[in-house]
Amino acid sequence: MNPGLQIALIPVGEVDQALLSMLEEDLPGIFTAEVEVYPLMPLCPERFVKDRGQYLADGLLDGFSSIVPLAGTLLLGITEADLFSPGMNFIFGIANRGRALISSYRLRPEFFGQDPNPGVFRRRILTEAVHELGHAIGLAHCEYPGCVMYFSNWIGDTDRKGPGFCFRCARALERLMVTGIMAQDEK
Ligand SMILES: [Zn+2]
Ligand SMILES: [Zn+2]
Repeated sequence: MNPGLQIALIPVGEVDQALLSMLEEDLPGIFTAEVEVYPLMPLCPERFVKDRGQYLADGLLDGFSSIVPLAGTLLLGITEADLFSPGMNFIFGIANRGRALISSYRLRPEFFGQDPNPGVFRRRILTEAVHELGHAIGLAHCEYPGCVMYFSNWIGDTDRKGPGFCFRCARALERLMVTGIMAQDEK
């Protein structure tokens, strides 16, 4: 799509190395992009809401402003911590202009009391990463339940849609990569 696109993968807090390697390997299959792992960014304790046991995603994403990426670089944070956003019990991820953050917390089958399944987990991680990067580039939600840009209200939505863009979103993505228009504050 855009030969100049770079994706900076930022571990936010301690993140399993295998998780970073998965994204490094899988993202170029969706976006024509180079993926580079950036240094760890600590989880800001001020963003932790103790009675919920969750981090405020919006606040963590704001923390990315201290990172100065090269032009044409999308920032993709990944955390193992549970995230929320005002008005929502939890979120799988968040994005705004050029920046995205996803959480692995609710993507492991073990979270739902099921046996570990590396293949399922890997597909979920990629799906959420692609969804938030789509927002970071400027895509809105899609009404087609099979498209990665469909809003995931629960894990079943994520599993159904997978990491692929529908035809319309793929077209829109190509246009946005050219014009560089980026939307703000999408979950
Ligand atoms: Zn779509
Ligand atoms: Zn979304």
